[in-house]
Amino acid sequence: MAIKSIIKDNAEIVGLEITQELIEKLEIYAKELKEWNEKINLTAIKDDEGIAIKHFIDSLMLLKYVDIPENSKIIDVGTGAGFPGLVIAAARSDVKVTLLDSTGKKLKVVADIAEKMGLKNYEILNMRAEEAGQKKEYREQFDFATARAVAELRVLSEYCLPFVKKDGYFVSMKGALAELEIENAENALKVLSGKIEDKFCFDLCSQGERNIIKIKKISQIPTKYPRVSAQIAKKPL
Ligand code: SAM
Repeated sequence: MAIKSIIKDNAEIVGLEITQELIEKLEIYAKELKEWNEKINLTAIKDDEGIAIKHFIDSLMLLKYVDIPENSKIIDVGTGAGFPGLVIAAARSDVKVTLLDSTGKKLKVVADIAEKMGLKNYEILNMRAEEAGQKKEYREQFDFATARAVAELRVLSEYCLPFVKKDGYFVSMKGALAELEIENAENALKVLSGKIEDKFCFDLCSQGERNIIKIKKISQIPTKYPRVSAQIAKKPL
């Protein structure tokens, strides 16, 4: 089956509205991703069904559950091959997405793919999250921070919440261990002024449980966060 049919059929299953224009962009994304993946290791998911469901539909689920107002500024932390950030940029031309990753070669591919998809509403940021979060041009500049498959929630909160404006959101995409990660992140969220406002648990097209955790930043956080990488690793909050 052609990837566009896989995307369309599975979008219907999960109740996602998806335009023809978006399907065409995602078709280009999949083709380029597969080609690049033969040259550099971008993703372990290589087949059309996996790319359509585990990358594209999964990324789009964030837009199903979280209301992102027009013209929002979003930072996708540890975007890798562009998930969920580049998919969100493709689906929502009104928002501006910053795609952050510490691995420059992945970002070069992401920029190449985004250009081929004809996207204009993104920027690439090759930096560690802990470093960018201490810079005034990125700290508290975003309405939303997103992240999928980057680190456990208590560590990820220290990476992501500094980017978010007061009253903005960090949206964390997690698998089946979400509840355990939430328990372990209790102290981190307290220290970093994060409050879980909503949680959405769903089955991703029979591919397993997924969770979206919507965390509100309720006030500014002390400037000592995020700490340097070694400290975060040695003593997670
Ligand atoms: N979010 C993508 C996805 O779901 O497919 C990529 C996940 S990949 C397993 C994790 C990515 O996070 C890698 O590309 C890695 O370079 C990046 N990463 C991990 N820690 C980071 C940090 N502290 N700052 C920036 N990027 C980081």
